[in-house]
Amino acid sequence: MGQQAAEICMLTITDFINILHCYYKSPLVQMYELENHKIETWRGDSFQNIYLQCSNHFLISISPEASLFDAIYSLLKYKIHRLPVIDPESGNVLHILTHKRILKFLHIFQKKVPKPAFIGRQIQELEIGTFRNIATVQQTASLYDALSIFVERRVSALPVVDEQGKVVSLYSRFDVINLAAQKMYNNLDMPMQEAVRRRSCFVEGVIKCYPDETLEIIIDRIVNAEVHRLVLVDRADVVKGIISLSDLLQAMVLTPAEDRAYVFQKLTCD
Ligand code: AMP
Repeated sequence: MGQQAAEICMLTITDFINILHCYYKSPLVQMYELENHKIETWRGDSFQNIYLQCSNHFLISISPEASLFDAIYSLLKYKIHRLPVIDPESGNVLHILTHKRILKFLHIFQKKVPKPAFIGRQIQELEIGTFRNIATVQQTASLYDALSIFVERRVSALPVVDEQGKVVSLYSRFDVINLAAQKMYNNLDMPMQEAVRRRSCFVEGVIKCYPDETLEIIIDRIVNAEVHRLVLVDRADVVKGIISLSDLLQAMVLTPAEDRAYVFQKLTCD
């Protein structure tokens, strides 16, 4: 696990969102200037007010010798979605780890990994996930409004809701890449309804779950659907929460380890 001062730099969708959000004026003003920028421009100090991962001055990475636990710890501690595995000798990037890959791996080898005792309990009882202050976007709001929420709240996806707060779809940071692929980023005034309809690349659909479902059912659903989060709804489809892979890895791997460390610490102190 390390913080490298290397030549390697990560430019992610978060950076693209921040840049778009900063440069967008209206559908009538084309972003030619932006299109001609070189990536190296975004590393410079002249763009300090735009948050880029590169402007942190160090890249969070991990060595191939590190444990799976270290990888999960880094992803959660630094609240990042991509963790490069870098060979310390050559400096080459060997792989990019994500929550999805790790949870899938743990799921495949679940027979070898001990299941926590609480896996059969209901999610509402366990409170794994976020249940308050959920960032959503109205389907009539503009795409620019959604980008503003991404910039302000730093969440990875927004349930798109109707006037009653019922979920109708999901718009994730990843979907913003469609804007680049289709050169649609010059019109961020379009309503979310249209932005959702015009997505063409791989679309992570909205997969729901309910408060009385067990953790085990929720893990199976999220792994099988190969999505990053489930939207927790009541029986009327009104959004009540989000359960993301970060929440599951925290609850299944980090919290039990922290608890064990705490008990151990207490035993040695007492
Ligand atoms: P993620 O970046 O999706 O892995 O999630 C990081 C944390 O943010 C988790 O605790 C999620 O439950 C929470 N989260 C994700 N999306 C939202 C949202 N739209 N509103 C509020 N919290 C969220």
